Amino acid sequence: MRYDVARSDLERLLDGEPRYRADQVWRGLHQRGLDPEEMTDLPKALRARLGEVLRPALALVAESESDAGDTVKSLWSLAGGRRIETVLMQYHDRVTVCISSQAGCGMGCVFCATGQAGLSGQLTMGEIVEQVIRARRRAEPRRLGNVVFMGMGEPLANYAAVWAAIERLHDDVGISARRITVSTVGLVPGIRRLAGERLPVNLAVSLHAANDTLRDRLVPVNRRYPLAVLAAACREYTEATGRRLSFEWAMIAGVNDQPSDATELAAIARPLHAHVNLIPLNPTPGYATRGTPAAGVQAFRDRLEKLGVNATVRDNRGTDIDAACGQLAASAIAAPANLTP
Ligand code: SAH
Ligand code: SF4
Repeated sequence: MRYDVARSDLERLLDGEPRYRADQVWRGLHQRGLDPEEMTDLPKALRARLGEVLRPALALVAESESDAGDTVKSLWSLAGGRRIETVLMQYHDRVTVCISSQAGCGMGCVFCATGQAGLSGQLTMGEIVEQVIRARRRAEPRRLGNVVFMGMGEPLANYAAVWAAIERLHDDVGISARRITVSTVGLVPGIRRLAGERLPVNLAVSLHAANDTLRDRLVPVNRRYPLAVLAAACREYTEATGRRLSFEWAMIAGVNDQPSDATELAAIARPLHAHVNLIPLNPTPGYATRGTPAAGVQAFRDRLEKLGVNATVRDNRGTDIDAACGQLAASAIAAPANLTP
């Protein structure tokens, strides 16, 4: 598939062509996101031949917009019947794409629609990269600057493909690692491995609970990597990379939004200088509990700030089109009116 091709594969494909061709095509694909057919500086026959070989991996099934077009959710179909979603979010000062790292997810967090659906397949490096390329073109004339691995899947459970995609994005697509955020449920070996890589990405850890009893229940993976072990891996990460660490905290009414939860969270976040992102729980079919009302979220934030922890209430984009965090299930087919050929 198009972005799974290595530079050396492309050179082999262009055997017999002038040497500069490989550069030309590589740049066209990565920097400009062109289809080979659009590379008008290539001879026509070559364009057609490359178009045959470098087929795109993602086929658009449906697209839906909300927030007056500022949030765009795309449902893609991939080889083997896998389906994934990406969400493009345009803010006044930046454009961010939220990409998937797996089709579904096997981590089983109880409140997450992707987790409720289970894992249906891994993504390849090229399938991850192509999501960014497509989003960047969709965002034009605005400039896509940020990539977050907060779509479907657990990135550290598909480590090799995710890391190769990050390198490709940084080295060839022109998106600096500093503008890439990997969000993880807390797979400790993956965090450690990430700490040793050559490029420093931002790390977001989906905490949601700051004591093991509650976290075991909400995030089953906690039974394997409990909080003390996770916090130690987070420290290793920030010390090795110098990047900012953030904790994601979905606010669940009556479950993790009490003053004692803020106190426990602060005890973990403060020594790590972690930033906390608060996001009211998005309703999903498989979890009956509701999100904390806005006033409760604000009070929780104020309490964290008083305890010396920086916290932001995250703007919750695309809730009405099921494009918000945790709502991605790749099952809904948009009405034909939303279908973009
Ligand atoms: N698997 C990774 C990345 C994808 S999930 C992870 O868990 O970090 C992206 C974010 O959405 C995570 O912070 C996750 O905890 C959060 N999330 C999942 N379900 C949610 C829901 N129903 N409401 C709000 N946030 C949710
Ligand atoms: Fe998977 Fe993340 Fe959802 Fe948990 S929150 S089930 S790790 S996608």
